[in-house]
Amino acid sequence: MKILVLNCGSSSLKYQLIEMDGEKVMAKGLVERIGIEGSRIKHTKTGMDAVTREAPFPTHTAAIKYVLDILVDPEYGVLKDLDELYATGHRIVHGGEKFTKSVLVTPDVLKGIEEVIPLAPLHNPANLQGLKAVMEVLPGKPNVVVFDTAFHQTMPPKAYIYGIPYEHYEKNRVRRYGFHGTSHGYVARRAAEILGRDIKDLKIVTCHLGNGSSITAVKDGMSVGTSFGYGTAEGVLMGTRCGDIDPSVMIYLMEQLGTPQKVSDEVHKKGGLLGVSGISSDLRDVEEAAEKGCERARLAWDILVDGVKKYIAGFAAKMGGVDVVVFTAGIGENGITFRKAVCDNMEFMGVKIDAKKNDCRGKETIISAPDSKVTVMVVPTDEEMVIARDTLKCASEAK
Ligand code: AMP
Repeated sequence: MKILVLNCGSSSLKYQLIEMDGEKVMAKGLVERIGIEGSRIKHTKTGMDAVTREAPFPTHTAAIKYVLDILVDPEYGVLKDLDELYATGHRIVHGGEKFTKSVLVTPDVLKGIEEVIPLAPLHNPANLQGLKAVMEVLPGKPNVVVFDTAFHQTMPPKAYIYGIPYEHYEKNRVRRYGFHGTSHGYVARRAAEILGRDIKDLKIVTCHLGNGSSITAVKDGMSVGTSFGYGTAEGVLMGTRCGDIDPSVMIYLMEQLGTPQKVSDEVHKKGGLLGVSGISSDLRDVEEAAEKGCERARLAWDILVDGVKKYIAGFAAKMGGVDVVVFTAGIGENGITFRKAVCDNMEFMGVKIDAKKNDCRGKETIISAPDSKVTVMVVPTDEEMVIARDTLKCASEAK
C-alpha cells in the first residue's frame, strides 16, 4: 500500500511516497518558492540522481498537481496510476487541545483545524492549504492529519499552565502545548524496542536537537513535560531562537523596539546560536569558530550544552529518575563532540558515555558505557514514517 506524506509550509511543500509493505521510500522531493517568482521542484526517485526543475507554482494546488504528475512520470515516477495511492498523510503543526491523536479528515476535523489557527497563525493555514489542495486534486482518496502537538496532550496541568492569570488559559487557551511530538513519540518508542523493554516501564528523556530543538520527559510511554511552550521559542537555545528568557527582557525589547513584530524577530530569527555567536545559526559553523578561538562562538555552544544538561537533569527529577536519554535530529544524531559535552560530569546521576561508542553519526546506537546506570542512545528520527504509519492505520480503520 502506497502512502503520500506531505509537509506544507507557507511557500514550500515536502513530500515522500512510501510503500508500506517493507516501509520503503520510493520517491521524495521538495517544492520551494510557491507563489513567489523562481519556484522550483527537486525530485528524487529512490536509486536515481535528484532532478531539479524550475516551473511556475502560483499555488499549493499547482504544486501538488505537478508532484502527482511527476509521481506517474514514465522516467522519474514510481506509480503507474494515481489509483495506486492508498491515502495521503499531512503534517499539521497545531492541534490545540482538540486533537490528541492522528485522525481521518472529515468536515468536522477541517473545522477543528481552522479553529486552532489563532494558536498557529503562520503554520496551520499553510498546512491547511496543502490539505485542501489534495482534497481538490484527489477527490475520494482518504486524508489523515498528524499533529506536532498531539503527543504532548497527555501532560498534566502542572506541566502546561503558565503563571499568569488563569483567565488567559480559560478564555484563549494560553498554555504550553509542545511540538516535535511525532519525533519525541517515535524515538521514545524506538528506544524501548531496541532495548527490548516495555515503554511503560521506562523513564525516558528525548532530546530532539536540530535547527529547532525541544526536550521531552516520557513516562509510561506518555509525554509528561516538554521544553517547547505556547510557541516554539521556549526551552534550549536554538539556531536562531532564544530559548528560555525572562519575560522582563521581552518587556525591555518591546520598549526599545516598539512593535511586537520587531520583538518577535529578535527572539525567533536573530537570536539563538546566531545571535550569541554572531557567526551562524548552524552548530557546525559555531563549533568550528569556537575551536579556532572565537569566544562568542564558544559561549553560544556552552549555553546550548548547559541548557540541554539542565533539561535532562530537571526532567529526571520530575520523573523520579531516568532510565534512558535519547539524542535525535541534526545535532543529536551527528554532534559527537556536542553529545560528549552534554554527558560530561553527569556521572552523579548515572550518565556515563563510552567515547568509542559515541563516535557515531546518524544510526541507532547505544553510546553509554556498560556500567552507566542510564542508557544513552542515538536514535535517528523519522517523522515521515510515523505520519505514513498513522495514515495507513486511520485510513484502514475507516474502510
Ligand atoms: P536539523 O534541523 O535536524 O536538520 O538539524 C540541523 C542542525 O544539525 C544544524 O545546527 C547543524 O549544524 C547540526 N548538525 C548537522 N551535522 C552536525 C555535526 N556533524 N556536528 C554538529 N552539528 C551538526
